[in-house]
Amino acid sequence: MSQALNAIRSRIAAAALAAGRPADAVQLVAVSKLQPWDHIAPVFDGGQRVFGENRVQEARERWTPLREQIELRLIGPLQTNKARDAVAFFDVIETLDREKLARVLADEVQAQGTAPRLYVQVNTGEEPQKAGVTPVEADAFIAACRGVYGLSVEGLMCIPPAEDDPVPHFRMLADIAARNGLAKLSMGMSDDFETAIACGATSVRVGSALFGAR
Ligand SMILES: *Cc1c(COP(=O)(O)O)cnc(C)c1O
Repeated sequence: MSQALNAIRSRIAAAALAAGRPADAVQLVAVSKLQPWDHIAPVFDGGQRVFGENRVQEARERWTPLREQIELRLIGPLQTNKARDAVAFFDVIETLDREKLARVLADEVQAQGTAPRLYVQVNTGEEPQKAGVTPVEADAFIAACRGVYGLSVEGLMCIPPAEDDPVPHFRMLADIAARNGLAKLSMGMSDDFETAIACGATSVRVGSALFGAR
């Protein structure tokens, strides 16, 4: 059993209630990237069944034996040459961020007859080193995913600049989602997940606060 898991669960429920939302309105995505199994085991044994990973290959190595027991989300950048493996292995891809990737994912969905749930990543801080469509591109990109590529988009994801107040970024993501008819918002990490919940997050991606420093 994991003390940290219980603590994070309580904090998520409290933040949801404080925001006038049901205690179970927010899903915890446990970010297990780069963690040794002895850090992950207590969280898995505590009943956590939704995990986030940054890399396709690392995720396969870690989770293949337990794959049927968990929901797995790709939260790191996806190269088109890994799209086949990602569609085959992940339940959710949160980092759809360019037309070339949309096209390749659409082809893989056809070929494999299975469709991961998809989130569009928005680079709300317009940081050059960070993935994601810019806020001004977002509406057209979502429309292209749906219309040109026939992809069903479930929600939006963002990673605000580390040095910024995250609130304007979370609000911007919520606005883009609302005007595009998207109900799901993946936002908030170890240091700001309660703030993200106050801004409408439906899932939070928590790594170090659950498993310890990487
Ligand atoms: C690593 C990572 C997280 C988890 O970060 P923590 O600060 O350890 O909670 C969340 N989201 C993404 C996209 C990440 O790469």
